[in-house]
Amino acid sequence: MKLKGIEYDVIEKPPNKRGGTSWIWEEGYCLKNRLDTDAKLTWMCKRCYTKNRVIRTHLMTTTNNSIVHMKQKHFIDKNGAVPRRDVRILQQQAAEQQAKTAAAVRTWTKLDLTRFQELLIRWIVMMHITFS
Ligand SMILES: [Zn+2]
Repeated sequence: MKLKGIEYDVIEKPPNKRGGTSWIWEEGYCLKNRLDTDAKLTWMCKRCYTKNRVIRTHLMTTTNNSIVHMKQKHFIDKNGAVPRRDVRILQQQAAEQQAKTAAAVRTWTKLDLTRFQELLIRWIVMMHITFS
């Protein structure tokens, strides 16, 4: 299987050390980089692939990304179907977090602008003193 120019082998799911994440491998393919054997395993969503031929992959540094994907896109978690209400709450939280971050960025930009104006005025005043 070739994705973004990289050859992958579809392998058996890796052994589960702690348990509790094996279900994610039922829902996804486990891809191993053919050339770079040290590369992290990649999880690819089976549902996205079979339904829409959309390839959704997540590096398996943590299974968390795949779990979030299954929950938000397919309403599935380790216990099976997730009530849509729960998913909506999850999405809402994500949207709120995003809005908060955006607001924080705006505040910072504003602060920086004020600071810049201050410095500029100070500089103009200083230059004025020097040249007058
Ligand atoms: Zn998917």
